[in-house]
Amino acid sequence: MRIARFTTGEEPLYGVVTGDVDQFGEPDEDTTIVALAGDPLYVGVKLLQQEHRLSDVRLLAPVLPRSKVVGIGRNYAAHAAELGNDLPTEPLMFFKPNTSVVGPGDPIFYPWQTQDLHFEGELAVVIGRICRDVPPEQATDVIHGYTIGNDVTARDLQRSDVQFTRAKGFDSFCPLGPWIETDLDPQHFADGVRVQTHLNGDLKQDGSTADLIFDIPTLIAHVTSVMTLLPGDVILTGTPEGVGPMQVGDEVEVSIAGIGTLTNKVAQR
Ligand code: ZN
Repeated sequence: MRIARFTTGEEPLYGVVTGDVDQFGEPDEDTTIVALAGDPLYVGVKLLQQEHRLSDVRLLAPVLPRSKVVGIGRNYAAHAAELGNDLPTEPLMFFKPNTSVVGPGDPIFYPWQTQDLHFEGELAVVIGRICRDVPPEQATDVIHGYTIGNDVTARDLQRSDVQFTRAKGFDSFCPLGPWIETDLDPQHFADGVRVQTHLNGDLKQDGSTADLIFDIPTLIAHVTSVMTLLPGDVILTGTPEGVGPMQVGDEVEVSIAGIGTLTNKVAQR
């Protein structure tokens, strides 16, 4: 099931996206969204008698992280190498504030403090229930679904600050969407799902989740050995190689097979 959040100009609602999408989740003309009563994370899926064509609504971030977005750094060997970093021996965690989250189509604002704003296309895991100390073999029990994230990073500030907070924490630095896919088999990701990023139509990143250094169950076990995760918290699983700069006016698209495409443009702050 594809769960989205949307507005028609009124109060935002959650909805289920029905109909065909292609392998990268691009909807066709007839794709519709059926509104839901409340947030399915908390009240389950309750369909309302309200249906719209997807093209008639504006999609919003499909989840509002209740407490945190946990990023994982250097989780693809080739990406660690391209930035001159050693491979981690355990997952490297950092936070993005929940205020950095924006939705599909929202602008990524280019802050004046940086001269090197990078995209990082990533698979995002949405947590479905309160959990801590989750063993890897039970990790799938706490997953609500998967969406696409862009871990926008001010690379120069990341280098100069050492700490990642400022470099990854600006408002609009965590686009999520276009929806949450709840039915994907996590094994699917172990076997490898393509993660691609296009900048103004040019392919920049073309990775596979088969190349994750630490797989999703390992990440959930590791994170929850440190901190409690709440429903709606998000884990960004790391970015493949090919990260690079964006300029004001650029359009960045992150596509994950089986989920869809997350598109945002860079705007002057
Ligand atoms: Zn990242």
